[in-house]
Amino acid sequence: MSAAPDIVPDCSFEELRNMVHDKLDESLEKLRPLFSRENPPTLQDISDAVQEMKQDFSGYLVQETVGNVHKEKTYCRCPKCNARVKKLRDSSRRIETRHGSSLISRPYYYCSSCRFGFSPVDEDLELSKRKKQPDLQKLALKFLARMPFEEASELFLESTGVTFSDHCMHELFASFAEDIGPGEVIPSAEEIRHRIEQASTPGERRPVLVVATDGAHMPTRPSSEKNAKRGPGEYKEAKGFRIYLATERITHLASWHRIAGKDEIIDALNMAASRIPVDKARICLIGDGASWLWDAMTQAFPTGREILDYFHVSEYMHKVAELQYAKDPNKAMHWVESAMARLAFKNGAGHVIAGLKKMQPASAEAKEQIRKTINYLTNNKHRIHYRGDRIGGYPIGSGGVESANKFICHTRLKRSGAWWLKSNGNKMLALRCALVNKTFDQIFSKFVTQEKASRVLTNG
Ligand SMILES: [Zn+2]
Repeated sequence: MSAAPDIVPDCSFEELRNMVHDKLDESLEKLRPLFSRENPPTLQDISDAVQEMKQDFSGYLVQETVGNVHKEKTYCRCPKCNARVKKLRDSSRRIETRHGSSLISRPYYYCSSCRFGFSPVDEDLELSKRKKQPDLQKLALKFLARMPFEEASELFLESTGVTFSDHCMHELFASFAEDIGPGEVIPSAEEIRHRIEQASTPGERRPVLVVATDGAHMPTRPSSEKNAKRGPGEYKEAKGFRIYLATERITHLASWHRIAGKDEIIDALNMAASRIPVDKARICLIGDGASWLWDAMTQAFPTGREILDYFHVSEYMHKVAELQYAKDPNKAMHWVESAMARLAFKNGAGHVIAGLKKMQPASAEAKEQIRKTINYLTNNKHRIHYRGDRIGGYPIGSGGVESANKFICHTRLKRSGAWWLKSNGNKMLALRCALVNKTFDQIFSKFVTQEKASRVLTNG
């Protein structure tokens, strides 16, 4: 580490320009070896050398710009008592931005009556208490939200020229996602209203707003003492919902997924519902069988049109047909098709149930599957009206939430060999939902404020 550069009190832009030119000359030396090679360098060689040279130079440029813009004063006002306070010492700090490493000079003042020490430069720059500054943190979070930490760290170095170890990334991730809940991750009422208005066409019917719930199984592991043998992993259900507009293109509004009990999901769903202008859209609720999810959805959206997910129903039908007509695949296919066609119509479920009741089960397994299917259709009869749904422009399947599950949960959390501590899995789900919901930038700004270096200055 070299000494802090001397800051010339009234250094003009022209002076900065001269200093920077000298540094540029020095940095260019890094390219010299390219000229003395036996074989001429490839474009990759040149690109790598320029990248290295650029980091060296641009880190310096940040450093000198900071030094010249934030002029040092011998006296300064105490932020607590407004007394005139003399500079106590220079304290410089090595920081990193995406432009490389910079040594920032921060004059330190101490007010003896308040017993308070402060560095105004920290405040002016919104310097982070971390060595890696917010521009790098933001990028790192975006990398690690999409791939394992080790991979993120490797790719980060390759693309930015800055080292960010997987350990540091994990630490950043853990503190960033520590306290983020549905309140921050779900967009605000204003934002949701704005997205609905953008997707609406004046003079036409209100757009269909879909609320869909589903679960995904996440590989989790129990926490264990350091060095102790890790307990066996288990799959736990990450429950979640997705709210979107089923316009020509799907307009995403909000997602929330979490490995948690019913109550937490119900609370989050109610929170999302409270931010939706129900007069601006036609609401429909899509789900499979789970009755507590239906209770949650209808409680949050009492006017929503309930639709039983078409694909779950057809799965039931296929199972019946496979067992009942095991020897005749043609007959099985025909039976499924005609049953599904009946379900398109209002009260169609009644006919299908009656047909199932008359069936002579071909085997014990068929009998059991028929019984389950009768129950399933009976419990959900009022949610089966696919033809009417189609006419009204409502979707009949929760493909939307299932793809959200794949996108939000599976692609990052379900990787071979990856077993998550429940708390870390939930933090990752929150981060990924924030990115999809486009609330990440806002949450990040708040995080930067919490992590400002000037906030950690203590008395004395
Ligand atoms: Zn003071």
